[in-house]
Amino acid sequence: MVNREPEKSEIRDLSFEELASYLESIKEPPFRAGQVFKWLYEQGVWSFADMKNLSQGLRSRLDQDFILKPNTVASQVTSRDGTTKFLFDLADHQKIETVLIPTAERVTACISTQAGCKFGCKFCASGLGGWERNLTSAEILDQVLHVRGVVRGLPPEANKRERRLSHIVFMGTGEPLDNLANVLKAIRIINSPQGLNIAARHITISTVGLIPKFKELAEQGIQFELAVSLHGYDDASRNVLMPINKQYPIKELIAACREYIKRTNRQVTFEYILIAGLTCTDKAARELGRLLRGMICKLNLIPCNPVSEFGHQPPTKEQIRAFTNGLDAVGVHYTLRRPRGQDVAAACGQLRALARKSVNT
Ligand code: SF4
Repeated sequence: MVNREPEKSEIRDLSFEELASYLESIKEPPFRAGQVFKWLYEQGVWSFADMKNLSQGLRSRLDQDFILKPNTVASQVTSRDGTTKFLFDLADHQKIETVLIPTAERVTACISTQAGCKFGCKFCASGLGGWERNLTSAEILDQVLHVRGVVRGLPPEANKRERRLSHIVFMGTGEPLDNLANVLKAIRIINSPQGLNIAARHITISTVGLIPKFKELAEQGIQFELAVSLHGYDDASRNVLMPINKQYPIKELIAACREYIKRTNRQVTFEYILIAGLTCTDKAARELGRLLRGMICKLNLIPCNPVSEFGHQPPTKEQIRAFTNGLDAVGVHYTLRRPRGQDVAAACGQLRALARKSVNT
């Protein structure tokens, strides 16, 4: 008969309540959960042995029952504008990407939620290799902890203020609403004062528009931001870029967003990619204005990053100006975003796709 050791789980897959109930089951006092959480998320230690205010017995027990292991950094590149992109190699050798985006006002981590993606948006390298699996909440949190560690090591800003990781956006590889349970578990820890203590309003979940999940999101009672990838102004234009539109057409999506706004009393941000001749035309500006007029929303315009597989071209400055003039004419407010990190393939999924190519050639 073969005696197999029971498989150990990752300690960062436990919520605070789950950790507290585990500690209670091994007869530890209730305050231990707060101490262990502090070591994991405030201090960010990578070994139970480093949890100095726990007894030796408890440290050994934790080591016996759980894994505490960071994702391996496979590569890291920093662009001229300071954007740093990390490629992580997970325990099963799936590769995921995380991006650190420092600006004068904020320091943002862009986090992946799945290894690969099944939604195949036609401007995004992440969908090119298909979907592999959901990330665990530990793998999601690990990305945040890694970026925070890098940010803590950055020199202070010119005004001597310490830099701190201030914003989290779930806009990396994968669709967060397709892995909602693990994403929400991670968000609760990111947001919790006992965890990473990042304000809910500084956490953004981005979705292609999985309408059936909107109700569940609205019921969470956490004030995070919701960003919806619109990227089209009618079914015809959105179908070209987002296959999901065939399942959830644009009018249903906008109706679901209106309902979400009503339920939560919070605005929605729409992300809209600008592609020459496709989404950045006079007609597009008129129709987009008509679609969003009167909604409590923000509109982010993002000139596309060229991804060679798709052949989309970013619009010229003049084309962008004509488009924004069209939005001004119908009274829709917008923010024009600057594509970042182009010299390090910072568009979603590009580094992972390059890694896959180099393995396959
Ligand atoms: S944009 Fe998001 S949902 Fe679409 S293919 Fe890329 S990772 Fe997937």
